[in-house]
Amino acid sequence: MKTTHRDNWRVVISINPQYTHVRISALGFTGLDSDLDGTLAGTPFELTVVPRRLGDFGGVSMGDQLVSNDVDGDYRRRCEQMLAAYLREPHVRSGRVEVDEEHRCSHCDMRWEELTAAEAADDSTNIDAHSSEGEPVCCDKAIDEFRAERGIPMPNWAGGAA
Ligand SMILES: [Zn+2]
Repeated sequence: MKTTHRDNWRVVISINPQYTHVRISALGFTGLDSDLDGTLAGTPFELTVVPRRLGDFGGVSMGDQLVSNDVDGDYRRRCEQMLAAYLREPHVRSGRVEVDEEHRCSHCDMRWEELTAAEAADDSTNIDAHSSEGEPVCCDKAIDEFRAERGIPMPNWAGGAA
């Protein structure tokens, strides 16, 4: 079956430099003498903020799997909390949580690909006349599983007359 792997959770925020009273110190240039601070100018720009790893406790670092039963959920919640906090800042115009997603087959670990409606109808790309849109293409087990779930006749893997 199709499994989803998520990695590189991040928060992307859009900074609006033109917002009244946004100073360079708001971007983390702390400790500036007031004469050395200044008002931001320019068009809105995006910043990407990578969250601290779940297993990173400062001095001690552990694998994410060791400290969480729900790594994706915990990263999502952490990123959403970060985003909510940033959005309360006046110079943050908008923001979103992003993650890289990759779909793989639980049987063969290949990248998950499915037949399109056109490929399912095409004898050069389908398995047999029972192929349908969404049928996986990576391995026999995935195809068998897909068909079993839907009550579709199984392919004749042994070859010969069906
Ligand atoms: Zn597979």
